[in-house]
Order: sequence, then C-alpha cells, then structure tokens
Amino acid sequence: MNALHFDGRLRWESRYPEPKPEPGEVLVRVKLAGICATDLEVTRGYMGFTGVLGHEFVGRVEKGPRPWRGKRVVAEINCVCGRCEMCQHGLANHCRRRTVIGIDGRDGAFAELVAVPQRNLHEVPDAVSDEQAVFVEPLAAAYQVIKQCPIEKRMRVAVVGSGRLGLLVAQVLHGTGCQLEVIGRNELTLNFCEKKGIQATPVSEVICRADRDVVVACSGSPEGFDVAARLVRPRGTLILKSTYARGAPLNLAAIVINEVTLVGSRCGPFPEAINALARRQIDVESMISRTLPLSKGIEAFEMAADPRYIKVLLKVEG
Ligand SMILES: [Zn+2]
Ligand SMILES: [Zn+2]
Repeated sequence: MNALHFDGRLRWESRYPEPKPEPGEVLVRVKLAGICATDLEVTRGYMGFTGVLGHEFVGRVEKGPRPWRGKRVVAEINCVCGRCEMCQHGLANHCRRRTVIGIDGRDGAFAELVAVPQRNLHEVPDAVSDEQAVFVEPLAAAYQVIKQCPIEKRMRVAVVGSGRLGLLVAQVLHGTGCQLEVIGRNELTLNFCEKKGIQATPVSEVICRADRDVVVACSGSPEGFDVAARLVRPRGTLILKSTYARGAPLNLAAIVINEVTLVGSRCGPFPEAINALARRQIDVESMISRTLPLSKGIEAFEMAADPRYIKVLLKVEG
C-alpha cells in the first residue's frame, strides 16, 4: 500500500506492507488525515519514532466485527493494555504499556490502511464532514484544557501561541464566555481569532502584568513559555500543551516566586469534540489551508511547517 514512512528521513513508499490487525483490532481505510506540530516534531526526533506517521484521521472500517464494518470512524490514539495500574485506575491514556498511533511503537494513518484497537473507535455522525472529523483528535486535546482546569466567565485567560492547536484551544475557551486574549506572532492566525470575536495581540505588543488567572502555552517554543510564565498571576494556573523534540531551557523562577500551578495537558475527550463539531460550535473548516494527495506528503509536511499555511490535510482515498 501507499504510506508516508519515517526512518530518520520522511519518504513516500508505494509498496509498504499492509497492517495486520491484532486480536481486538480493526482495519480502517483512511480517507483524510491531518498534519500537526507533533508530526513535525517526530520528524525532528521526538519520541525516537520510526514507522508510518499520522494520528489525526477519519476513515471507514474495512475489516472488523460486523457492527463496525463500513462505519465512518475516528480513533483515539493511545492503544492501551487495560491491565496495568494506570488502566485500572481510569487513567488509560497513561497506560504503562501503551503504544500511540503514528507516534510511539505503532504505525499511523498517513497510509491507505491503519490497524486500530476496536475500543479506540468513535463513529462519526452524518452531521460531521470528513474535513471536520479530521480535527476531532486535536480538538479533543483542546477540550482537555477545560476538563483539567474548569473555566468560569469572570476569569481572565490568555492563550500563548496562535498555531493550529492554539486556535482550537482559543475557540474552546471562547465558548466558556471567559475574558480571553490570544497572543501570537502570526498575523494570519491572529486575524482568524479577531474574525471570531476573540481578542488577539501580537506578542511584540503584549504587556506582561502577571494578571491572568489561567494561561495556556501552545506556542511550541521556549519564548512562548516565557511569555506565558510572565502573564500568569500569583497562584494562577499555567497549562502546557506543547511537546518539544528537544528539551527547552525554561526560567522557572517566576513559577516558584508566584506559586503558579503548572498543568501538563495532552489528549482529551473525543465525544465532546465530536458533539461540538456536529453543533458547529467550533469552526475548523476555515483553518484548512491546503489538501494534498498522500503522494505529495513530503511537500505537505513542508507546507505544514510554513507559517503561511494553517492546517494541511492529506487526502488518502481516491
Ligand atoms: Zn496531532
Ligand atoms: Zn495499561
């Protein structure tokens, strides 16, 4: 089958072996997939991964138990054992023996077929298009922010970083009615926020008064973390959403002095994301800059790293 494979170098392969589903797994024929910052980080060595990349996708179940066959699905990315103490305590996303689709120990979705545990599947309702469904995984990660840190209307909240994830986090927070400001360096995406009625400020103009109740750092850069740490008020909460391939030298003094609560945040609830898309509460379609065929995957990766594009999708089927 066709696949985008990474082994220290990203390459398109036309004769990659088809995945063989293990017991409890189904085979999904991928329709559409999204490239995100994590994929770009993986190609820079994050997680030391080799294999087929891709974890944001929508497809149709080709092989599996009858109730799932032919269904249009998205899938959670953590493939878990169900037996370790994390799984037993309801923290399956932190399973000690997990593999992660297209990120850690398991081939991903930038291919015609991907094997996925049946328990990871969520059916996509007709009200959600393929173009929307491909955003379920990152949008779920954005919902995780308000799951970990409930936001009230009176709160002053900042999102640092106006990239793909920042825009999703900003839209989720905007829905809470809080006093929100997005801080970033990309004019294109700051304009996107303003069009949605979200206050947006270039990072060069921001004044850090340490007066925000909650700050979400999504910039993927140590500089962004620094701004975030200077925005949060004493005893406030700083939520970290970005993953880096390389460690980042961070100045933690402000965190200690201001007794800031640091919250790491990763994957989130799929049902919330699917519902929000079905109800059109979150606009993802206008984030799509380009859709390229899988065979143009390398070009698509270059575009995804270019700030002139927001979301770049790969069309796999057809
Ligand atoms: Zn992602
Ligand atoms: Zn486990």
